[in-house]
Amino acid sequence: MVDPMTVIAQHWNSTPVPIEAIIRDIGLPLSYEPMDDNISGYIERQNGSYRIVVNSSHAPTRQRFTAAHELGHYIYHRDLLGEGVGDNRAYRTEGTDRPNLNIRPIHERQANSFAANVLMPRHRLSDVAEQSTAALAARFAVSQAAMKIRLGR
Ligand SMILES: [Zn+2]
Repeated sequence: MVDPMTVIAQHWNSTPVPIEAIIRDIGLPLSYEPMDDNISGYIERQNGSYRIVVNSSHAPTRQRFTAAHELGHYIYHRDLLGEGVGDNRAYRTEGTDRPNLNIRPIHERQANSFAANVLMPRHRLSDVAEQSTAALAARFAVSQAAMKIRLGR
């Protein structure tokens, strides 16, 4: 089994951070399917491992964040995942058809922090104070809202 953190480190200096390649190199199938607008995506058990599915109807920046969030569940919460967990638009399991009582708000926050860390590496943002939030969001292929939070602006 490949160490996920090694894979991330190998891709972390590419811009935007290639989240699809990271997930692929870790060995998880990643696919996109149209879902209800209130659902971001899910991770579910498949063939003794897990696969990630993202709502293809959402904006590409949001799809990237969702993929990274689900990867965060895989890396940090694998022992809690069981058959998997669904994420609604707010990245909570409530209202999805894959509820998982093991996954609590603190786990969702961990998955969100992980996604922000992976997609907007701190070491790549240290010398960009003069750039606009919009320019940085475009460069890293994340939403302006996500970049704003990341930069504390
Ligand atoms: Zn989640």
